[in-house]
Amino acid sequence: MAPYISSPKNTLAILSENGINLKKSLGQNFLIDTNILKKIVDISGAGSDDVILEIGSGIGSLTEILLPRVKKIICIEIDRSLASAFKGIFADYMDKGRKGEKIELINKDAMKIDYGELSKDFKISRVVSNLPYKVAAPLILKILVEAEGIHGLWVTIQKDIAERLTAPTGSKNYSSFAVKAQFLAGYRQLFSISRSCFLPSPNVDSVVVEIKRKDNAGFFRKNKEISGFFRFVNECFRHRRKKIINSLAQSSIYVEKTGTISGILERMGKAGDIRAEELGLGDYIELYKRLNV
Ligand code: SAM
Repeated sequence: MAPYISSPKNTLAILSENGINLKKSLGQNFLIDTNILKKIVDISGAGSDDVILEIGSGIGSLTEILLPRVKKIICIEIDRSLASAFKGIFADYMDKGRKGEKIELINKDAMKIDYGELSKDFKISRVVSNLPYKVAAPLILKILVEAEGIHGLWVTIQKDIAERLTAPTGSKNYSSFAVKAQFLAGYRQLFSISRSCFLPSPNVDSVVVEIKRKDNAGFFRKNKEISGFFRFVNECFRHRRKKIINSLAQSSIYVEKTGTISGILERMGKAGDIRAEELGLGDYIELYKRLNV
């Protein structure tokens, strides 16, 4: 077998040669199972026409597997020492390297990037990443909201985040996050990755999830701004187990409409005193539209 970065021996050697101590606070758990990395790239369907966004590229374990299959990879990595080791490994593929500019490395916090601009500049089509766990949940929403050109994401995330993304109405994981996430995309848990496939082994379970953008064009056109709908969902879930009408009574935007909310809910076939956790995505869209005509 070729000496992949992700072999445990090579990963350890690269870290030691570059004097890198891994930081738990940045979720630096590297995949050290090359077959799993190949399985992720296979299942993503990434091909020679694709420009890939990889967030949290680390020392390039996943980048190396993507490299021969895709057109270009845009890597984001916050850690300066990891970015420097990465540049040493992939120099030939960066800037004026001998093998062309196939990799772009951005040494920045992924939460501070404008994905609308980035995806337009590079014509990014997919995300394939082993995401930094601390920011995975807000990052998925940020990318889906900002980068309309990105149609799919194949990401390794914490199992409990996957459960929050896919939580059905009324379940214990159902929240404003689930409503917003399900408005933006559809989710499929593909397979689990054992803790022993990471170095160091994390104390949480991981899964690979496929995220496919939904076409919300009609909704956007009518409501101009998705942020208005998201603010409304947040206000409804201000107290998850309380009646929506009571939560909206505390909202500066909706306080004046509280008189009409029960009636609208009843005309939608719902109880006027329903709780936030009992309304599904379609109900939230309907309620928002009726309140904002
Ligand atoms: N891609 C490598 C792999 O698959 O083995 C490393 C993945 S590791 C789970 C997550 C990576 O994200 C780390 O390299 C970490 O430094 C980086 N990271 C953490 N927080 C970040 C942030 N806010 N922005 C960009 N990168 C971040």
